[in-house]
Amino acid sequence: MELYSGKLGKLIEELSTLPGIGTKSAGRLAFYLLHEPEEHVKRLTTAILDARANIRYCRKCFNLTDEEICPVCADPKRNQRTVMVVENSRDLAAYEKTGKYEGVYHVLHGAISPMLGIGPGDIRLKELMERLAETEVDEVIIATNSSLEGETTAMYLSRLIKPTGIRVSRIASGVPVGGDLENIDEVTLVRALDGRKEL
Ligand code: ZN
Repeated sequence: MELYSGKLGKLIEELSTLPGIGTKSAGRLAFYLLHEPEEHVKRLTTAILDARANIRYCRKCFNLTDEEICPVCADPKRNQRTVMVVENSRDLAAYEKTGKYEGVYHVLHGAISPMLGIGPGDIRLKELMERLAETEVDEVIIATNSSLEGETTAMYLSRLIKPTGIRVSRIASGVPVGGDLENIDEVTLVRALDGRKEL
């Protein structure tokens, strides 16, 4: 027998498809939403639909943005000759939060994973190489996660970039093995950046 039938069951089912939300949390969220003022629920659904319809990739760095060029790339105070490569926009946000990085970024939207069948063609690698060919860049800082996939991607990238003569560095460890950047505290992130090693 279904625990909740009809529309409530459907709402719980949809919520439980979200990452990190099991059936139990989905149930809790569903009851919360049902008891909220209708205005709040409307704001929430509008925000979701609005973001979905209007957020796109920055033409330069592939960060998620609602402009053609994201605020980081558009900021004249940022050093456009230093490019930090991260796996996703959440990792970019983690470094932005430190307020200590003055360069720009490139967001790969993934990492190479032979096990999951994700190859170099499945992430924004080609776009990075095109960007490096078109713009003057002094250093590429590889800040992919210290997971197997992150390390594989870093090795692949350094082999690709080194022949171009651009300096390639990797953020220092201190970032725990397998750790996602977004879960790491700001002091550790800054230390990893400052202690980066040339590859
Ligand atoms: Zn950008």
